[in-house]
Amino acid sequence: MAQSAADRSVDVLIVGAGPTGLGAAKRLHQLKHTNFLVVDAQAEAGGLASTDVTPEGFLFDVGGHVIFSHYLYFDDCINEALPKPDDWYEHERVSYVRSFDQWVPYPYQNNITMLPVEQQVQCIEGMIDAAEVRSRAATKPANFDEWIVRMMGTGLADLFMRPYNFKVWATPTTEMQCEWLGERVAAPSLKLVVSNVLNKKTAGNWGPNATFRFPARDGTGGIWKAVAKTLPQERFQFDTKVEKIDASNKVAHLSDGSKVSYRSMISTMPLDQITEISSELEPLRSTSRELVFSSTHVIGVGIRGVLPPRIGDKCWLYFPEDDCPFYRATVFSNYSPYNCPQADVKLKTMQTADPSLSSKVDTTTERGGPYWSLMLEVSQSKQKPVDEENLIAESIQGLINTGLLQPEDEIVSTYHRKFYHGYPTPSLVRESQLKVLLPELREKYSIWSRGRFGSYRYEVANQDHSFMVGVESVDNILFGANELTLEYPDLVNSRRNTERRL
Ligand SMILES: Cc1cc2nc3c(=O)[nH]c(=O)nc-3n(C[C@H](O)[C@H](O)[C@H](O)COP(=O)(O)OP(=O)(O)OC[C@H]3O[C@@H](n4cnc5c(N)ncnc54)[C@H](O)[C@@H]3O)c2cc1C
Repeated sequence: MAQSAADRSVDVLIVGAGPTGLGAAKRLHQLKHTNFLVVDAQAEAGGLASTDVTPEGFLFDVGGHVIFSHYLYFDDCINEALPKPDDWYEHERVSYVRSFDQWVPYPYQNNITMLPVEQQVQCIEGMIDAAEVRSRAATKPANFDEWIVRMMGTGLADLFMRPYNFKVWATPTTEMQCEWLGERVAAPSLKLVVSNVLNKKTAGNWGPNATFRFPARDGTGGIWKAVAKTLPQERFQFDTKVEKIDASNKVAHLSDGSKVSYRSMISTMPLDQITEISSELEPLRSTSRELVFSSTHVIGVGIRGVLPPRIGDKCWLYFPEDDCPFYRATVFSNYSPYNCPQADVKLKTMQTADPSLSSKVDTTTERGGPYWSLMLEVSQSKQKPVDEENLIAESIQGLINTGLLQPEDEIVSTYHRKFYHGYPTPSLVRESQLKVLLPELREKYSIWSRGRFGSYRYEVANQDHSFMVGVESVDNILFGANELTLEYPDLVNSRRNTERRL
């Protein structure tokens, strides 16, 4: 190892201070390792789990971030970082699908009573056919589309699953595999669906105890800034990009001009990018360039006024239809009152939701609140282009079309940011690509490429998973332990993982 050529030498170089990098750092620190460094191109910790603040004081996460933890170790760490009861708000999941001008409670299939009779029949006929197909099927479905039709039938597929999933993934369901769904997703109960329809009943939302908690202050990003604070600050270097990797000699070239040599690297940069910054990794580029991902646009809207009853306690909402560009909307001000400026903050009205009405309101004087906010997500890919310049205007029109905003509502703040890597797509060839890329990087170059885009497995790419993927990569480097989350997604997702790793 050409350590002499480097300015610093560490045992473990962690690239990225998102949840994965922080999980790795946390585990090294717990094991009393001091010779590691975390480098991040951004100014602070959090990665895609960060929070932006608009000039007017509205907070927006990178789309709807809700924690559904599978791991006690993860819970311990975030509880240590935000230990006080008033660090968190606890909410019931209140979620709907916008369909045929109705708010259909999620899960959609259990609540089709809300739909017109023609669509109820379409759904039930499809489910009957699907049950027959399932009873005869000898092979697994070949792609996500076949899986949808087999589990739910063509009615639910056409009304919700196909259009909604295209809006989310920006990839047709026929071009996605279905293994990522795991074995755990059961077909909806035909008996329950028919009985609900005949009795004109809705099954309601998720059922009892379906709750989640959200940080009181600083949004989701506040969690990760607080986790970073529990670690020695001298182990972090922010505002610094890894620009080049001399993979044979294990030396990283940083944007401040310095070089760091390492024994092992845990890289959370996208797998399709790491191969581009190292000449030794050139042979892997043809594979990594074929990895499929979509970009995510986050659009935020801050509104003056009392939260209207039509919004109530809604948390997040799904939009399969084409009357709005977004696939999901989050009533972000319902997660914490501190996600909005307080009522005494005076702001000018930028426009009314329908801009043609703006001349009817005072847009020159700063006036007080209260305020509330909506956060929208729009996906983009080559197969699903987006008119980026007009996206805010189209989104606001979509909010009117779907009944979330009234034309005369006063908008006091808007936000739009594109995240080039948003969703790692479970494409039909993903597993064959990962089988080449991940072992080659680890075995030949001591690079553990891990995390949402480091290891590209969507089914284990939420915050809890990513954090544990980081923890487990350290245990693999130091002890040769199995990386359960990365290797056995079904297992970790089907149980409560209670190891404390003391
Ligand atoms: C739209 C959306 C919705 C989501 N919803 C949820 C949800 O509801 N619940 C949930 O738990 N999770 C959710 N997630 C997932 C969550 O954001 C991820 O689990 C998490 O951020 C992944 O962490 P990571 O560390 O692997 O990667 P990232 O968060 O992407 O962090 C990678 C870090 O590496 C840094 N980096 C990259 N390249 C370099 C380089 N060359 N040099 C230096 N630094 C570099 C980046 O700056 C970044 O900080 C969502 C994500 C998105 C995009």
